[in-house]
Amino acid sequence: QKAPIRVAVTGAAGQIAYSLLFRIASGDMLGADQPVILQLLDLPQAQQAVRGVIMELHDCAFPLLADVFATDNPETAFQDAQIAILVGARPRSKGMERADLLHANANIFTAQGAALNKVASRDVKVLVVGNPANTNAYIAMKSAPDLPARNFTAMLRLDHNRALNQIALKTGRSLNDIEQLCVWGNHSPTMYADYRFATINGQSVPQLINDAQWYAEHFLPTVAKRGVAIIEARGLSSAASAANAAIEHVRDWVLGSKGRWVTMGVPSDGAYGILEGLVFGLPVVCENGEYRVIKDLPIDDFSRERIGITLKELEDERAAVAHLL
Ligand code: NDP
Repeated sequence: QKAPIRVAVTGAAGQIAYSLLFRIASGDMLGADQPVILQLLDLPQAQQAVRGVIMELHDCAFPLLADVFATDNPETAFQDAQIAILVGARPRSKGMERADLLHANANIFTAQGAALNKVASRDVKVLVVGNPANTNAYIAMKSAPDLPARNFTAMLRLDHNRALNQIALKTGRSLNDIEQLCVWGNHSPTMYADYRFATINGQSVPQLINDAQWYAEHFLPTVAKRGVAIIEARGLSSAASAANAAIEHVRDWVLGSKGRWVTMGVPSDGAYGILEGLVFGLPVVCENGEYRVIKDLPIDDFSRERIGITLKELEDERAAVAHLL
């Protein structure tokens, strides 16, 4: 049997974790033959709730769950972690200014970045889910100078999957056959879902759809505002689909995307005019435990404008936390 992989998950008492942990333990993320050790972090006041989640994990009798423990200490949670999924973040509360939210989260993610730097496996793969995810990933990366910067990523996969679903619905084709879709930028309503290069069984998606009005008036706003639509319908934020996207992000990163483009928020190397280091949603292909950004795609005027909008938002977020780093 393979040696277990240590997976740290923060915000372990939360909604997203309640979907995520069971799927990690069942093998959905790292494979049906890969044992895991779950190292769960949450705040002191959430420890009792995490104990309940652990009881349920035990009661599932998952053959792949080699061990699970909970702690409120990041250095304990991240000890030797090979994968770290950072879900816990300070939620936006009523009357809270955007700058206050950024600061509250900056404190959490500087501390967690420093803890990862100190105790995690030297090749730990980090996925930030907690919002503002891209900037939180940037902060953690900056706070972990001894770890490879490229291993700090943010989740754009939910936006990607939402876009896949809209294209499948519009074309009546199977979602599995859609290739070369990408979502640029920030995990926020400014993200730019782009199907200019997408194909279905080799046919061009823009040609198949051929409806500029649908693109501008339905597709982009539906993908951008899906989170709000779910809150309105369900009375609660999306959690199972967010957890699923986290599973797919890490699964593809570790096990490969089999040639398919997927979207990951990754530190920019300056390609496409994106400031180096900013964590930006980009099309990537994953192979052998690494991701590779798809380079040299043509950027037309509309795309340049849309990428510029989401880039500006991320630059502003970075500026708001710069003095803390
Ligand atoms: P959720 O589990 O629903 O969400 C957690 C985070 O994921 C939020 O920042 C949320 O952003 C974000 N998120 C990203 N994508 C999505 C999406 N598509 N849909 C919904 N959320 C998304 O939050 P809960 O409040 O249920 O749980 C949070 C847990 O984190 C609590 O147990 C809390 O104690 C813990 N926590 C732990 C910390 C730590 O370990 N140090 C620090 C802070 C909190 P958004 O707010 O924008 O919805």
